[in-house]
Amino acid sequence: MVVVPAASRRALVEHALAERPNESCGLLVLRNGVAERYERGRNAAASPYRFELELDPELWFLEDEGYELAVVHSHLSSPPRPSRTDVENVGLWQGKPYLIYCVARDELAAWTISGSSFEKLALLERDDGASRPGERGLPGAPR
Ligand SMILES: [Zn+2]
Repeated sequence: MVVVPAASRRALVEHALAERPNESCGLLVLRNGVAERYERGRNAAASPYRFELELDPELWFLEDEGYELAVVHSHLSSPPRPSRTDVENVGLWQGKPYLIYCVARDELAAWTISGSSFEKLALLERDDGASRPGERGLPGAPR
């Protein structure tokens, strides 16, 4: 399961809207399955139909710090499920949480892709209480 608090969702939605008409792509930085933040990547393909994720290389070191990285990209109007191109180009994201945001439906979905097939992954969108300033900026705080 992947938990996406409202702040991370907002960040990835803003990015998807800003990149129109092309697909946006980036990373969710997860700790114990909960997204702590969204990091924008660059779509080197600059295409409305596919993405090639380009990242600040520093982000890869987060894995050494115990974070899990999940790729996120947008679909402008097609449903938020992996396209044939996505499956073919899954590369190192195979077996990891793989998220797609559909701009037209304002819908976020998570998957895992292995080989030529994919499975839906449970996704929980959580109100992170951004209106309560006292609770912000406490990564991994127990609830
Ligand atoms: Zn796609």
